[in-house]
Amino acid sequence: MKICVLPGDGIGPEITAEAVRVLKALGLKMEMEEGLIGGCAVDAAGTPYPEATQKLAREADAVLLGAVGGPKWDSQPRELRPERGLLGIRKDLNLFANLRPAILYPELANASTLKPEVVAGLDILIVRELTGDIYFGQPRGVREENGERVGFNTMVYSESEIRRIGRVAFEAARKRDKRLCSVDKMNVLECTQLWRDIMIDLAKDYPDVELSHMLVDNAAMQLVKAPKQFDVMVTGNMFGDILSDEASMLTGSIGMLPSASLDDKQKGLYEPSHGSAPDIAGKGVANPLATILSAAMMLRYTFGLEEQAVRIENAVKKVLAQGFRTGDIYEPGTNRVGTKQMGDAVLAAL
Ligand code: NAD
Repeated sequence: MKICVLPGDGIGPEITAEAVRVLKALGLKMEMEEGLIGGCAVDAAGTPYPEATQKLAREADAVLLGAVGGPKWDSQPRELRPERGLLGIRKDLNLFANLRPAILYPELANASTLKPEVVAGLDILIVRELTGDIYFGQPRGVREENGERVGFNTMVYSESEIRRIGRVAFEAARKRDKRLCSVDKMNVLECTQLWRDIMIDLAKDYPDVELSHMLVDNAAMQLVKAPKQFDVMVTGNMFGDILSDEASMLTGSIGMLPSASLDDKQKGLYEPSHGSAPDIAGKGVANPLATILSAAMMLRYTFGLEEQAVRIENAVKKVLAQGFRTGDIYEPGTNRVGTKQMGDAVLAAL
């Protein structure tokens, strides 16, 4: 197992250090090598995704990433922005499937802006296609027409693109509660009618998974009305962009949410859903749990080590039940700890 570790900027190094400690504690045979990405790579190598990092990432089975960015690099030209490093590595590794779980542990139900009974125990997974759709479709642009400017983009999905993301979603559903909801806008968009047709066709290969369909506007409503009705949701790039952010905010605790971006050979990039939190960087107070849970996703999706993934997830549940909280999830009556102490607590629970 070869893992490329890219701590990045801001709180990135602090939180990845804890995830690395947790991975090492499992006693598995794994090689880990660190590289630079984002602002720190711009400073050291003049580019956010240097060649040495590209080589490391390509040769690894999986990449564990912290976060990139910060005010120091905000005024850089576009190609030297830290976020370019992130786009670069996603494209380079052909990571077309983005998996974002939104889990609300019962102990943190008060962190959500929704009523605790609506969200307590929430556990959904959004599978978003990441490399196609209107974000990449051609033609695109702004042109002059009849004396005014007209903006246009193209929503486009090929059958093979829909099939490969569909398979990822059906496989993910198989590892969970075996229910998959495909989200589209087939009543208006031909492109998403094709999406629905392909999902129905794919379902024949997964008789153990119950497939349903929902229009995206209804899905947005249902996510805030009754989010616990969902197990796995699969959708295109643009709808997924919006719905996955909506779903993550149901939990109200950004420091808890992991993510995975996969290619078609189970190689993956694993990172927390949050950014580099420059406001708290270097203070030792960041919540490392999203990154630790990202490491669990790595074990599950790239290495097929379900048992070890569950061990980490159970350890996280245990530390929450024991009352350990970093500042972002702190409530009076719980035990406020820093990044390293939270890592220690997870190790002890393991
Ligand atoms: P952010 O997620 O970094 O921070 C938003 C708020 O959440 C801040 O108050 C921060 O302190 C808090 N927060 C985030 N993660 C936390 C954690 N683990 N523990 C405790 N508190 C946490 O978003 P932002 O402030 O909009 O962006 C900051 C920088 O991060 C920007 O440069 C942005 O471009 C970058 N960014 C990077 C990624 C990524 O690397 N994937 C994603 C989003 C933003």
